[in-house]
Amino acid sequence: MVYEIALRILQTLEKNGYEAYFVGGCVRDWLLHRTVHDIDICTNAHPGDVMTIFPDHVLTGLKHGTVSVKLEGLFFEVTTYRTEGKYEDYRRPSTVQFVSELRLDLQRRDFTINAMAMDRHRRLHDPFDGQEDLKKKQIRAVGEAVERFQEDALRLLRAVRFAAQLSFDIESKTMAAMKQTAPLLAHIAVERVREEVNKMLASAAPQWGCQLLCEAGLFVSTPLLERLFQHGSQQAWRLSHVQDLVQKWALLFYAAEFTLSEVKQVATHLKMSKRESERLLTLLGWLEKIRPQWDIPKDIEWRTLILDAGLATSQEVNSLLLAIWWQQRQQVDTEALQRAYDSLPVKNAKELAVTGYDLQVALKKHKGEWIGRVLVSLLHQTAFAGLPNTPEALIAAAKNEVARNEY
Ligand code: ATP
Ligand code: MG
Repeated sequence: MVYEIALRILQTLEKNGYEAYFVGGCVRDWLLHRTVHDIDICTNAHPGDVMTIFPDHVLTGLKHGTVSVKLEGLFFEVTTYRTEGKYEDYRRPSTVQFVSELRLDLQRRDFTINAMAMDRHRRLHDPFDGQEDLKKKQIRAVGEAVERFQEDALRLLRAVRFAAQLSFDIESKTMAAMKQTAPLLAHIAVERVREEVNKMLASAAPQWGCQLLCEAGLFVSTPLLERLFQHGSQQAWRLSHVQDLVQKWALLFYAAEFTLSEVKQVATHLKMSKRESERLLTLLGWLEKIRPQWDIPKDIEWRTLILDAGLATSQEVNSLLLAIWWQQRQQVDTEALQRAYDSLPVKNAKELAVTGYDLQVALKKHKGEWIGRVLVSLLHQTAFAGLPNTPEALIAAAKNEVARNEY
């Protein structure tokens, strides 16, 4: 369906006298029978011509010759053939130049498997033997590998990321060039680094990705990350048992036995968002508390976790523990958390028969931290010590609690 709509763009451009091809990732994924998620088109038409032919468009990257054409509610990036001038800062070309030849456009691309174009009759244009490399299951740089990584050091991580996504090898000369140019990664904005590492962790073979990161020595100058990926190369198989990215990071840190302070350092270094790093630290904090050893929690521990961390966080911790045990144990008890939840007479402070305000009035005390502490204690007493969930019983227990602790 998407493919048919994109075909119409190629036809329209050709009808207007231009060349047009599918190019890059979509060709690679189509040849591999993988899901194609975005279709890129390249053409010898200049952006101005593309805009005239397709009045419904958005200018997303005019500087780089890209016009986003809208057809049937979908967007397709149409980019004019271009070469790139001298590179600045090991990342971006200082200039781009439109050219009239497809081959020159393919030549600026990073890896042979990403440097193929296909016309609307499904004829392949593959001047760098990308198809051969797909068969050999390898990532190989287009042209002189060292130069290509020197131009743009982000390609170092892209190579690893594609290898992990496709379960491919990195061709030996390309790997040798990566080892040589690894220090250049320091020039890449940490946000871009994080983005690529995230894609690698989310891939089908994160363990392989971690192994390649270490083999190429991409993080030797960041010892915490180096250590993390070293462990990841042995433990990362666990990552595919959880879907969520923060949970994947949590598993990696847990397996590598990082302290919370080390986790914080890595999160800061990678400029993770506040929300992400807080969730990460919360999950790891609970994991450490509930199971310092790699052992299965007892029902009572599950119940304590639900009461103290809330159900949502407990479910996340449960997913992490299941991933940790999956290959260690024959039988994993997937129902334990649910059983613990069902067996709790009260699941959270809101379900208690008294509110904080009720306590304040009954005990004739001012508002203060004591309320939260007493509520938690009441929660535990109803859950574990048979305290009835009635206002009279709870208030009596609250009085005791306050007297005992001299709140
Ligand atoms: P994905 O499945 O992640 O979208 P993709 O191959 O489409 O993979 P993109 O980052 O979307 O990757 O880039 C589209 C195409 O542009 C690539 O296939 C490649 O040909 C080219 N390209 C992208 N980034 C670079 C780069 N840093 N250096 C050289 N070529 C690049
Ligand atoms: Mg893409």
